[in-house]
Amino acid sequence: MNILARYPFLGPAREWVKGSGLTISQMLSRDQEKVQILARNRVERAIDGAGGEREVMSSLEESREYLLSYPLSRYLVATLGDENLIKWFSHAEAETAHGSLVHEDEDLIREMGEELDLPERDPPESQGDDTPAIPRVTKGIRPGGSGPERVDYWVSFTDYLPLKRHISGAEWDLINQPIIDGLIRLNRSRYLRLMQEAIKIRVEDGLAGKESRIRGNPMEDPLNAIRIKLDARKKRYEAKDLGKITVTRLPPCIRQILGMSQAGENLPHHARFSLVTFLHTIGMSRENIFKSFARTPDFKEDIVQYQIDHITGASSATEYSVPSCETMKSGGICFNPDPLCEKEWMTHPMTYYKIKGRKGRYRPKDNVS
Ligand code: SF4
Repeated sequence: MNILARYPFLGPAREWVKGSGLTISQMLSRDQEKVQILARNRVERAIDGAGGEREVMSSLEESREYLLSYPLSRYLVATLGDENLIKWFSHAEAETAHGSLVHEDEDLIREMGEELDLPERDPPESQGDDTPAIPRVTKGIRPGGSGPERVDYWVSFTDYLPLKRHISGAEWDLINQPIIDGLIRLNRSRYLRLMQEAIKIRVEDGLAGKESRIRGNPMEDPLNAIRIKLDARKKRYEAKDLGKITVTRLPPCIRQILGMSQAGENLPHHARFSLVTFLHTIGMSRENIFKSFARTPDFKEDIVQYQIDHITGASSATEYSVPSCETMKSGGICFNPDPLCEKEWMTHPMTYYKIKGRKGRYRPKDNVS
């Protein structure tokens, strides 16, 4: 039961809830008050950007209530029908599951990988000459316990690609992966991080498009309280305008990244880096750059502040420059290039911005040298 409660998005947990015969309407009744409180906490935790802490349940009843709070929290999120909330919720649930996963044994991790469509594959026959010997440990050994951590997980390249898309860090780029026979080797922590992304997708599935009226809902008061909290987070950090910066001058790549950020998408590392350097270079204040990240699901005030300060040189010796178009292309973030981008001389997003800012604006026929 404890395991089901820790991973309520998995098939066996869903089966248990179904088998319990408890419907959402029954969970909304008075005698399920504890489940309702836990469900509301789950949603509020997501809005607060919290998550990642391992859930500790000390009794069977606690596990049962915690497990039941998951479908109810999904019901709350779906009823509110807010796109940002759906992203934040799935992110928080996945982060919390990850907090538990790091303590699990290999058998359970392997089973979960199967269920989440991220199965561990058999190692390729040849692991390459430069591959260091891999310590294999016995099935079921607990990392951090008495034995060495198992370090190798082989996953298919096609399973890897869609999941790594929203993970920050150059170490996730395909170019930096050891690929043999279509398989990628990951250490345990990277495999679990990938699994976290798979969980996020699983949690998010089925939440959109179910919005319904709140008035008359048995949880009308909590739902309204959650809505107020949700609006407060959005308002607090909303990038209402870009000051003197005209959005139409932004190159398509930056416009797309900014849009993703404002829509509550997690940004890959390259995208985040490019957005910060770009906005900084065109003169946006650190405060407004900070606000432009406020809706990303993995938003953590102190971390975002640190990253911005580091990239802009406020807290480091280096003030980083905006990456060139070539770098943006190789990082897969040259989004929606338009006819201006197709010009032979268009090699930098800043060039695009400057040209668009010229009096009379650039039109395709303009003779720009
Ligand atoms: S060509 Fe350059 S400016 Fe245009 S979208 Fe790609 S990276 Fe951005």
